[in-house]
Amino acid sequence: MEATVGVQMDQPLAFSSPRDPLQTDGLKKHEQNFKLPGVKKDIEKLYEAVPQLGNVFKIKDKIGEGTFSSVYLATAQLQVGPEEKIALKHLIPTSHPIRIAAELQCLTVAGGQDNVMGVKYCFRKNDHVVIAMPYLEHESFLDILNSLSFQEVREYMFNLFKALKRIHQFGIVHRDVKPSNFLYNRRLKKYALVDFGLAQGTHDTKIELLKFVQSETQQESCTQNKSHVIMGNKISLSGPASKELDQRSPTKTSVKRPYTNAQIQIKQGKDGKEGSVGLSVQRSVFGERNFNIHSSISHESPAVKLIKQSKTVDVLSRKLATKKKTVSTKVITSGVVRKTGSSCPAALTCDCYATDKVCSICLSRRQQVAPRAGTPGFRAPEVLTKCPNQTTAIDMWSAGVIFLSLLSGRYPFYKASDDLTALAQIMTIRGSRETIQAAKTFGKSILCSKEVPAQDLRKLCERLRGIDSHTSKPTSATQSPTSPDKISEKTDHETSYLIQTPLAESSGNGLCKRDSNGCGSLFDECATNLEGWDEVPDEAYDLLDKLLDLNPASRITAEEALLHPFFKDMSL
Ligand code: ADP
Ligand code: MG
Ligand code: ZN
Repeated sequence: MEATVGVQMDQPLAFSSPRDPLQTDGLKKHEQNFKLPGVKKDIEKLYEAVPQLGNVFKIKDKIGEGTFSSVYLATAQLQVGPEEKIALKHLIPTSHPIRIAAELQCLTVAGGQDNVMGVKYCFRKNDHVVIAMPYLEHESFLDILNSLSFQEVREYMFNLFKALKRIHQFGIVHRDVKPSNFLYNRRLKKYALVDFGLAQGTHDTKIELLKFVQSETQQESCTQNKSHVIMGNKISLSGPASKELDQRSPTKTSVKRPYTNAQIQIKQGKDGKEGSVGLSVQRSVFGERNFNIHSSISHESPAVKLIKQSKTVDVLSRKLATKKKTVSTKVITSGVVRKTGSSCPAALTCDCYATDKVCSICLSRRQQVAPRAGTPGFRAPEVLTKCPNQTTAIDMWSAGVIFLSLLSGRYPFYKASDDLTALAQIMTIRGSRETIQAAKTFGKSILCSKEVPAQDLRKLCERLRGIDSHTSKPTSATQSPTSPDKISEKTDHETSYLIQTPLAESSGNGLCKRDSNGCGSLFDECATNLEGWDEVPDEAYDLLDKLLDLNPASRITAEEALLHPFFKDMSL
């Protein structure tokens, strides 16, 4: 895989503005006190699709909607006593049965304690699956970001590590750690890691079903094994049946999509009356949200890729940029994919090595397939460069990006719609040389046209937060971070991006400016204390540095993070 990215970087800061309305994911909380007609319809449809829900729940509202699920708030009179609030996650009917079962198994085996969401029931009718979980009312990260006290940030991170330690102990790599998947109830100081829809297992995972949702190469070998897994008495799974398919593909490329005919039987919580029905599935088992899966087909006809159109995409229709520096990066990987996948293969040299061209040898290489799930801005460098050997360390990187947002007051911090842009943005914070160096350790060679220095994390965060470290006084934080503007894309093999970023601009966009009394001017939430923020201890930035370690092998683990001096006097 080779690609070039050109990113203009003026003042490398955060890559999003404070309170960027484009970046809220899911539905806004408490959006309206009335139900939208669309929501009402969706609720009716859900009752129709899974009628047994009506016997137990009153579905009140839709609280989340993603690509692969919709989440509803419901109430239930489960036992004698008060009504209970339940979150109902309705998975899209095309979700792969093994994916569904694996998500459920993560919740049932690892969930229910240490800030990991548990599950109460699961319902199924035909291809509709609904997971019922305890409902945790939670804040919108963006809404509270600039009003959190420093102590709250400490608690937030501590509790996130607690959840990560728990799932990592089970050999679960979450792969999508971000604020919307870590629910936070500020008042109750309750936390819950949710959404195992993209989770994968480590090589020694204790979650049986995750063994079937690993990398594509591993997956192909798994098609040989018939398996029958019984988990508790909730899920039984038979299959997978090996079958080549993808009839929808006009070229009839024989890309193996295992498990397609797997049958899944998910019994209803207590009475388990629902029978077993085979689910037909159109989606890959990976739960790859960015459809990276199709890259596996590309080797079939590299020539087609070559002549693939050049398109220019306006990522965000934002202000046009002033040109300053351009940094272009290129990631080179050897086309050799080792069967064992024990480590990334070392880069082979060829005609185009260390140039910004892509030679014919490289063009004919099979694109490396590696799991790449998650949200670009939270992806670790080894994910962005498609290192096939990914570990729980990728979740720690994502936690580091959350911490970076908390310390800088900017969310999302990295805003990139593609991996190379995300990588270039990481370079502007962590340094290009450092990034290149680290990538070497996992077998990736990155070319970068300009050298950008690593930033001092404290200075960066204080500047973004608008706190002058010398006077400990808040300054007006007017430096708006850069944002991508224009991307031009060529082929899969040679992708070149041009991202124009505006110079730090005046903040007319809703940053919570604090006056010297620590009062916010724009939002209620800002009326919080500056307490703690004027003297953020070095330990905070030391921990941040260890989370954003470019080298996954030395990156701090969740268990270690909990013992970090930043959390001294906090107990598990
Ligand atoms: P998706 O795979 O679509 O992202 P999630 O499991 O992340 O699904 O759920 C989407 C959203 O629904 C979450 O961001 C959260 O706002 C809400 N949600 C999910 N589970 C719960 C829960 N148990 N309690 C309260 N809200 C929840
Ligand atoms: Mg989610
Ligand atoms: Zn080459």
